[in-house]
Amino acid sequence: MHQLIIFGPPGVGKGTQAEIIAAKLDLEHISTGAILRQAVSEGTDLGKKAKEIMDKGNLVPDEVMNGIVKETLSKISKSGFILDGFPRTVEQAEALSAIFDELKMNSVLVINLIADENEIIDRLLKRGRSDDTRETIMNRLKIYFESTKPVKDFYEKKGIVIDVEGVGDINDISEAILAEINKS
Ligand code: AMP
Repeated sequence: MHQLIIFGPPGVGKGTQAEIIAAKLDLEHISTGAILRQAVSEGTDLGKKAKEIMDKGNLVPDEVMNGIVKETLSKISKSGFILDGFPRTVEQAEALSAIFDELKMNSVLVINLIADENEIIDRLLKRGRSDDTRETIMNRLKIYFESTKPVKDFYEKKGIVIDVEGVGDINDISEAILAEINKS
Protein backbone atom coordinates (compact mmCIF):
# COMPACT_ATOMS: atom_id res chain seq x y z
CA MET A 1 0.00 0.00 0.00
CA HIS A 2 1.60 3.23 -1.14
CA GLN A 3 0.34 6.46 0.39
CA LEU A 4 2.11 9.31 -1.29
CA ILE A 5 1.99 13.08 -1.44
CA ILE A 6 3.82 14.78 -4.28
CA PHE A 7 4.97 18.24 -3.28
CA GLY A 8 6.76 21.14 -4.94
CA PRO A 9 6.27 24.57 -6.50
CA PRO A 10 3.73 25.13 -9.29
CA GLY A 11 5.19 24.06 -12.61
CA VAL A 12 7.77 21.65 -11.20
CA GLY A 13 6.04 18.71 -12.88
CA LYS A 14 4.01 17.26 -10.01
CA GLY A 15 1.08 16.36 -12.26
CA THR A 16 3.23 14.63 -14.87
CA GLN A 17 5.18 12.64 -12.31
CA ALA A 18 2.08 11.78 -10.27
CA GLU A 19 0.46 10.35 -13.38
CA ILE A 20 3.49 8.19 -14.22
CA ILE A 21 3.96 6.94 -10.66
CA ALA A 22 0.22 6.24 -10.31
CA ALA A 23 0.25 4.17 -13.51
CA LYS A 24 3.38 2.22 -12.51
CA LEU A 25 2.23 1.43 -8.96
CA ASP A 26 -1.51 1.19 -9.68
CA LEU A 27 -2.38 4.12 -7.47
CA GLU A 28 -5.26 6.54 -7.46
CA HIS A 29 -3.98 9.87 -8.78
CA ILE A 30 -5.78 12.51 -6.74
CA SER A 31 -5.19 15.91 -8.32
CA THR A 32 -7.18 18.59 -6.51
CA GLY A 33 -6.58 20.98 -9.43
CA ALA A 34 -8.07 18.40 -11.83
CA ILE A 35 -11.06 17.83 -9.53
CA LEU A 36 -11.69 21.60 -9.45
CA ARG A 37 -11.25 22.00 -13.22
CA GLN A 38 -13.75 19.17 -13.74
CA ALA A 39 -16.23 20.94 -11.44
CA VAL A 40 -15.72 24.18 -13.38
CA SER A 41 -16.34 22.45 -16.71
CA GLU A 42 -19.48 20.77 -15.33
CA GLY A 43 -20.72 24.08 -13.93
CA THR A 44 -21.46 22.63 -10.47
CA ASP A 45 -21.82 24.88 -7.41
CA LEU A 46 -18.25 24.07 -6.48
CA GLY A 47 -17.12 24.90 -10.01
CA LYS A 48 -18.91 28.24 -9.97
CA LYS A 49 -17.26 29.16 -6.67
CA ALA A 50 -13.83 27.90 -7.68
CA LYS A 51 -13.54 29.42 -11.15
CA GLU A 52 -12.88 33.01 -10.19
CA ILE A 53 -10.46 31.98 -7.44
CA MET A 54 -8.53 29.71 -9.81
CA ASP A 55 -8.42 32.30 -12.59
CA LYS A 56 -6.64 34.67 -10.21
CA GLY A 57 -4.29 31.96 -8.99
CA ASN A 58 -5.66 32.19 -5.45
CA LEU A 59 -6.42 29.28 -3.17
CA VAL A 60 -9.87 27.73 -2.81
CA PRO A 61 -10.81 27.85 0.93
CA ASP A 62 -9.31 25.14 3.13
CA GLU A 63 -12.69 23.80 4.38
CA VAL A 64 -13.81 23.21 0.79
CA MET A 65 -10.59 21.45 -0.17
CA ASN A 66 -10.43 19.38 3.02
CA GLY A 67 -13.96 18.12 2.38
CA ILE A 68 -13.16 17.15 -1.21
CA VAL A 69 -10.02 15.27 -0.18
CA LYS A 70 -11.70 13.47 2.70
CA GLU A 71 -14.47 12.27 0.43
CA THR A 72 -12.02 11.18 -2.27
CA LEU A 73 -9.70 9.35 0.14
CA SER A 74 -12.55 7.44 1.75
CA LYS A 75 -13.45 5.99 -1.66
CA ILE A 76 -10.00 4.71 -2.71
CA SER A 77 -10.27 1.33 -4.41
CA LYS A 78 -6.74 0.97 -5.81
CA SER A 79 -3.67 -0.17 -3.91
CA GLY A 80 -2.92 3.31 -2.65
CA PHE A 81 -2.89 6.92 -3.79
CA ILE A 82 -0.75 9.83 -4.77
CA LEU A 83 -2.02 13.24 -3.71
CA ASP A 84 -1.10 16.00 -6.15
CA GLY A 85 -1.78 19.65 -5.32
CA PHE A 86 -2.89 19.00 -1.75
CA PRO A 87 -2.08 20.00 0.95
CA ARG A 88 -1.26 23.57 -0.06
CA THR A 89 -1.49 25.18 3.38
CA VAL A 90 -0.43 24.06 6.86
CA GLU A 91 -4.13 24.07 7.83
CA GLN A 92 -4.79 21.57 5.01
CA ALA A 93 -1.82 19.46 6.15
CA GLU A 94 -3.21 19.38 9.69
CA ALA A 95 -6.66 18.43 8.43
CA LEU A 96 -5.07 15.73 6.27
CA SER A 97 -3.30 14.23 9.29
CA ALA A 98 -6.67 13.94 11.02
CA ILE A 99 -8.19 12.34 7.90
CA PHE A 100 -5.31 9.84 7.73
CA ASP A 101 -5.83 8.96 11.39
CA GLU A 102 -9.53 8.50 10.87
CA LEU A 103 -9.07 6.31 7.80
CA LYS A 104 -6.17 4.44 9.45
CA MET A 105 -3.77 5.47 6.73
CA ASN A 106 -0.28 5.30 8.18
CA SER A 107 3.19 5.45 6.66
CA VAL A 108 2.66 8.35 4.31
CA LEU A 109 5.60 9.54 2.23
CA VAL A 110 6.10 13.05 0.84
CA ILE A 111 8.01 13.30 -2.44
CA ASN A 112 9.45 16.79 -2.62
CA LEU A 113 10.31 17.85 -6.18
CA ILE A 114 13.04 20.48 -6.26
CA ALA A 115 13.55 23.15 -8.95
CA ASP A 116 14.82 26.70 -9.08
CA GLU A 117 12.43 29.63 -9.40
CA ASN A 118 13.47 30.78 -12.89
CA GLU A 119 13.08 27.31 -14.29
CA ILE A 120 9.60 27.16 -12.79
CA ILE A 121 8.44 30.49 -14.23
CA ASP A 122 9.73 29.37 -17.63
CA ARG A 123 7.84 26.11 -17.44
CA LEU A 124 4.60 27.76 -16.32
CA LEU A 125 4.72 30.30 -19.14
CA LYS A 126 5.29 27.53 -21.70
CA ARG A 127 2.40 25.43 -20.37
CA GLY A 128 -0.17 28.04 -21.45
CA ARG A 129 -3.19 26.79 -19.48
CA SER A 130 -6.05 29.33 -19.26
CA ASP A 131 -5.08 30.20 -15.68
CA ASP A 132 -1.43 30.64 -16.70
CA THR A 133 -1.13 34.37 -17.47
CA ARG A 134 2.04 36.04 -16.18
CA GLU A 135 0.07 37.85 -13.48
CA THR A 136 -1.58 34.64 -12.31
CA ILE A 137 1.73 32.80 -12.38
CA MET A 138 3.43 35.43 -10.23
CA ASN A 139 0.51 35.32 -7.79
CA ARG A 140 0.64 31.52 -7.61
CA LEU A 141 4.37 31.64 -6.91
CA LYS A 142 3.83 34.24 -4.19
CA ILE A 143 1.15 32.07 -2.60
CA TYR A 144 3.42 29.06 -2.94
CA PHE A 145 6.24 30.74 -1.03
CA GLU A 146 3.94 32.28 1.60
CA SER A 147 1.39 29.55 2.25
CA THR A 148 2.47 26.29 0.66
CA LYS A 149 6.20 26.02 1.28
CA PRO A 150 5.67 25.87 5.08
CA VAL A 151 3.87 22.57 4.43
CA LYS A 152 7.27 21.08 3.61
CA ASP A 153 8.59 22.07 7.04
CA PHE A 154 5.48 20.55 8.61
CA TYR A 155 6.33 17.19 7.00
CA GLU A 156 10.08 17.64 7.44
CA LYS A 157 9.45 17.71 11.20
CA LYS A 158 7.67 14.37 10.87
CA GLY A 159 10.71 12.99 9.01
CA ILE A 160 8.72 11.72 6.03
CA VAL A 161 10.08 13.88 3.20
CA ILE A 162 12.23 12.56 0.37
CA ASP A 163 13.85 15.11 -1.94
CA VAL A 164 14.06 14.41 -5.66
CA GLU A 165 15.56 16.75 -8.27
CA GLY A 166 12.59 17.89 -10.38
CA VAL A 167 14.50 19.25 -13.37
CA GLY A 168 15.76 16.99 -16.12
CA ASP A 169 14.53 14.07 -18.21
CA ILE A 170 10.95 13.08 -17.25
CA ASN A 171 11.74 9.36 -17.16
CA ASP A 172 14.91 9.84 -15.13
CA ILE A 173 12.90 11.80 -12.57
CA SER A 174 10.23 9.05 -12.38
CA GLU A 175 12.96 6.44 -11.94
CA ALA A 176 14.53 8.49 -9.15
CA ILE A 177 11.14 8.79 -7.42
CA LEU A 178 10.44 5.07 -7.75
CA ALA A 179 13.89 4.22 -6.40
CA GLU A 180 13.25 6.42 -3.35
CA ILE A 181 9.82 4.87 -2.79
CA ASN A 182 11.37 1.37 -2.93
CA LYS A 183 14.04 2.36 -0.44
CA SER A 184 11.54 3.62 2.10
P1 AMP B 1 -3.17 22.92 -9.83
O1 AMP B 1 -3.66 22.17 -11.01
O2 AMP B 1 -2.72 22.00 -8.71
O3 AMP B 1 -2.12 23.91 -10.19
O4 AMP B 1 -4.41 23.74 -9.24
C1 AMP B 1 -5.04 24.74 -9.99
C2 AMP B 1 -5.76 25.72 -9.08
O5 AMP B 1 -6.74 25.04 -8.31
C3 AMP B 1 -4.87 26.39 -8.05
O6 AMP B 1 -4.21 27.52 -8.57
C4 AMP B 1 -5.88 26.75 -6.96
O7 AMP B 1 -6.64 27.88 -7.33
C5 AMP B 1 -6.81 25.55 -6.99
N1 AMP B 1 -6.36 24.49 -6.06
C6 AMP B 1 -5.90 23.25 -6.37
N2 AMP B 1 -5.56 22.55 -5.27
C7 AMP B 1 -5.82 23.37 -4.22
C8 AMP B 1 -5.67 23.25 -2.82
N3 AMP B 1 -5.16 22.15 -2.26
N4 AMP B 1 -6.02 24.31 -2.05
C9 AMP B 1 -6.53 25.43 -2.59
N5 AMP B 1 -6.69 25.62 -3.90
C10 AMP B 1 -6.34 24.60 -4.72
